[in-house]
Amino acid sequence: MMTIHAFGHTRSYEMEALLKLFIPATQFSFSIGETPELPDGEYLSAVLEQVSDDTNRLTCRTAWNGQTHTQSALLSAAVQGNDLDREISAQLYPQLCEISGQTLPWGMLTGIRPVNLLRRFTVRDGGLQNAMDTFRRVWHVSDQKTKLAARILQVQQPIFDATPPDAVSIYVSIPFCPTRCRYCSFVSNSVSRMKQTILPQYLEKLRDEIILVSELIAAQNLTIDTLYIGGGTPTVLDAAQLADLMGWLDTYILSAPDGKRRIREYTVEAGRPDTITREKLQVLLDSGVTRISVNPQSFQDNVLEAAGRPHTAQDTVDQFLLAKEMGFRNINMDFIAGLPCDTIEGFRESIDRAIALSPESITVHCLSLKKAADFYASLPMPSAQTVNDMVEYAQRMLLENGYAPYYLYRQKNMAANLENVGYAKPGFESPYNILMMDDSQSILGIGSGASTKLIGGQRGIERVTECKYPDEYLRRYDELMAKKRSLVIPKH
Ligand code: SF4
Repeated sequence: MMTIHAFGHTRSYEMEALLKLFIPATQFSFSIGETPELPDGEYLSAVLEQVSDDTNRLTCRTAWNGQTHTQSALLSAAVQGNDLDREISAQLYPQLCEISGQTLPWGMLTGIRPVNLLRRFTVRDGGLQNAMDTFRRVWHVSDQKTKLAARILQVQQPIFDATPPDAVSIYVSIPFCPTRCRYCSFVSNSVSRMKQTILPQYLEKLRDEIILVSELIAAQNLTIDTLYIGGGTPTVLDAAQLADLMGWLDTYILSAPDGKRRIREYTVEAGRPDTITREKLQVLLDSGVTRISVNPQSFQDNVLEAAGRPHTAQDTVDQFLLAKEMGFRNINMDFIAGLPCDTIEGFRESIDRAIALSPESITVHCLSLKKAADFYASLPMPSAQTVNDMVEYAQRMLLENGYAPYYLYRQKNMAANLENVGYAKPGFESPYNILMMDDSQSILGIGSGASTKLIGGQRGIERVTECKYPDEYLRRYDELMAKKRSLVIPKH
């Protein structure tokens, strides 16, 4: 097992994140702060030693795959924190590239929000061109990814310009799904087990929390910018339950004193086609929902079957066309590149079919490898090169067909070290997705699995996750709500 060896500093987390870019989904052993002596076997080492009062020496070594590489540099003793992370990565990244024989599309960036970082560099470095130069030169980001991030930054600007001050967004969590997809990395609970027990109680408490949040918003004189109901799969609720939920949101959250809605976007994830019915779609339409997701993930039936999704490609097409015919004007489709059993030909066909259906936005995810390692081990997986080709094909075809990338994020342990990108036709970019990814607006989460993010207070960004599981939410409800009642939402 590879050892992460750190001495004279506390930046081992960043070293692990860097190493995981090259060796995803792997556990490492640690030797931290104990000795400057190098460990046995394979390791990634960063030793920081004092040379004089104001100077340190940083020495980084990688021993891996029968090769050892070393680099050393003198640093000012003032170099600490994120700056020290960058110095360590600047030594280790080329070593890892050399030994593995690969360079990474996002270079030594380990964070999940490269666009947000480019925006900050744009301010710090005096303009977009300088920031792009920093991306390429300092962080080793490829020219292609640098341009992608820059393009997204430009598409996002009008959304930021139109964001009302003192506004918050609301996220409501329905953490249940009809069954669990095999690749799922979210906390979703199969509803078949919980239909008669937890679900009705969960909805009751959710209503109470909606009321509490509406009181917070009113007391702190805030406006609501966007509302997003996600999960899980919110359309796992039956039509009557869905109507109740939408009614509570309408009464307590959306109805302004003058009776007019003012929100920019109202999204409901109707992700699994096997949960969609005409009746439920009518409830959403009647409630003023402006955007839904109907997610194919793949248009290859064998890939869907391997992924444990009990619907066919044709089911997704049928539900999409039903939603269109009923009057939905903004529909998103999600796809995953890198699913087991998928091929470049199959993925191309999926993207071509999606483009022919012409949804307003298409989001291309890359498979996260952090869960269900056994599942991946037992099935043929597309290679990193194939996943890369899939993503490139999607990008090229979507650009050629009038879609532009508008938000992007990375996850740890992603297939081929790539990214998730949302593409939209002009005017159909989701403000919620942009603001949430950029950490530029407070989000009030309601329900289990939802996290509240407070932006702009003394602590910069404060995240409050209530709890992961619905049974815990029910058990600790009073305690959780007592805390929530005392939240102060920062004003911008
Ligand atoms: S529909 Fe989404 S949230 Fe639900 S199990 Fe599948 S991947 Fe997970």
